[in-house]
Amino acid sequence: MRIRIQCKSCGLPFKTRVEPGIPQVQCHNCQHSIPLAKEGWSDDPPAVEVCPVCECRHLYRQRDFNRVLGCLLVLIGAILVPWTYGLSLVVLSLVDLAMYYRLREAVVCYRCDTVYRDARPGPRQKEFDLLKHDVLKYGKSWDRPADLEDEALPTDGAEDGSR
Ligand SMILES: [Zn+2]
Ligand SMILES: [Zn+2]
Repeated sequence: MRIRIQCKSCGLPFKTRVEPGIPQVQCHNCQHSIPLAKEGWSDDPPAVEVCPVCECRHLYRQRDFNRVLGCLLVLIGAILVPWTYGLSLVVLSLVDLAMYYRLREAVVCYRCDTVYRDARPGPRQKEFDLLKHDVLKYGKSWDRPADLEDEALPTDGAEDGSR
């Protein structure tokens, strides 16, 4: 299964292949090795239930689509407008759309952003949810930020005592 992973040591993303049975993957940049969990995923058929990199159970589906290429196609269409009476824009937008729908979906981990490019999303793996992402990644909290709480405290008396 092809994956795109971000190294926890140097922070750079890299692409590699994983198979059940290999205990770790190594960063192409700094040789840091990232251990992989044995359970929770398979290669035949390619599917991920639990992220083997961070053991997070929350994953989402994403089309493995090249955004840059998509924008480039529309841009080329726009440049050719004067010579094609606008038809180029229509044609290249359609090509762009066709490419988008033909591409397979990939599975992405909410927590560590690892992309499992060959994995088929399961029924539990829905589209990206920003709130879920924030909670899992940054531990979103509904408490008031600490600096706001300090401001709300009565300042008279307490301030004199501390100085
Ligand atoms: Zn690295
Ligand atoms: Zn993960």
